[in-house]
Amino acid sequence: MSSYLFANARIVDGTTPEPGEPVSVLVEDGVIREVSASLKAGSAEVIDLKGRTLMPGLIDCHVHVVASLANLGENARLPDSLAAPRAAIIMRDMLARGFTTVRDVGGADVGLKHAVEEGLFPAPRLFICGKALSQSGGHADFRGQYDDTPVPTNRFRLGALGRICDGVDGIRRAAREEIKNGAEFIKIMANGGAASPTDPIHFLGFSRDELLAVVEEAQNAGTYVSAHVYTDEGIRRVVECGVHSLEHCNFISSETATLAKENGAYAVPTLVTYEKLVSEGASLGFPAESVAKADYVRSGGMKSLETMRNAGLAMAYGTDLLGNMHRHQSEEFVIRGRVLPAQEVIASATSVAARLLRMEGKLGTIAADAFADLIVVDGNPLEELSLLTGQGKHMPVIMQAGRFVKRVALD
Ligand SMILES: [Zn+2]
Repeated sequence: MSSYLFANARIVDGTTPEPGEPVSVLVEDGVIREVSASLKAGSAEVIDLKGRTLMPGLIDCHVHVVASLANLGENARLPDSLAAPRAAIIMRDMLARGFTTVRDVGGADVGLKHAVEEGLFPAPRLFICGKALSQSGGHADFRGQYDDTPVPTNRFRLGALGRICDGVDGIRRAAREEIKNGAEFIKIMANGGAASPTDPIHFLGFSRDELLAVVEEAQNAGTYVSAHVYTDEGIRRVVECGVHSLEHCNFISSETATLAKENGAYAVPTLVTYEKLVSEGASLGFPAESVAKADYVRSGGMKSLETMRNAGLAMAYGTDLLGNMHRHQSEEFVIRGRVLPAQEVIASATSVAARLLRMEGKLGTIAADAFADLIVVDGNPLEELSLLTGQGKHMPVIMQAGRFVKRVALD
């Protein structure tokens, strides 16, 4: 594999408030070999960045790559032969925005992960949980009040974000099956949701015994549980039961945020999805009651950022976009930047996300031995987070595992 030397690169990775002094970054065999002010090119091809920004590839910790439709009930009925190529397009577009890694929190299966690893189409590195676990009537139950069809217990459609399980034995079996099928962590639905028909936001998903059981199953497999949660009561309950990754967290109190921090948990806010569900949801077939729920959840979200920051709770980057709204994936940077320092917003998609993925030192950093996932940005995102938006238009170079995904000639 070719080797490259990025010269005169100013690193922005979220660890400092200003871009670094110009350095050279040597890439060989898909990994970063060395980062230094004085590097000899040797046989490597030199790419002079002339002081441009070099960032680690971005990481989004809350996506649904199979969600080609905003109406998740309909999405769950898509034939796999349609859902799979649509997922490939969604992932290709994520990579074009500079997201070289994503964590799918419901839907993507091991077949998609292997397709990405085989390089069948351009895509971010994909971390999966298989199907999210939901109780009957919970956030992944899309049957509605008039539909009493029995829920399937295996052979789930690719477009289904979740599966239904009930009881301690039921959730244990479901978690074990997902782990057997390649899940790298377990996702559960522990509160009602905006996108589902019969569960108001404040509904609590699963009993404490079920929560403790699923956390034990994940820990037995050396991994962790991620929970969909909105309300303070919902968040506190899952934190007390040992859940590690707290998705959304729109109505978290400072006491609960402090408890979560003490337990070493991570929050993954997803504010952009509520903004877009409210402005675009109806036109995309999202039911009216779901749009109203999204508006309510949106109102709590901005305040939660300050609450969690004050408590010192680590926040990773997440988006949770569905259907045609995926194109807004990078706008979460700008939304968070209204409340948080740009450095912290960038760290959420680099070092913090890498820690959540347990890939510290390999992803989200520009250092020796890290994967050569790199993006060149025209301008300084620490001053202007919107440089990360626009479908990658301010990113002349995107590299993944030492290969160019995008390479525009630099003047
Ligand atoms: Zn989600």
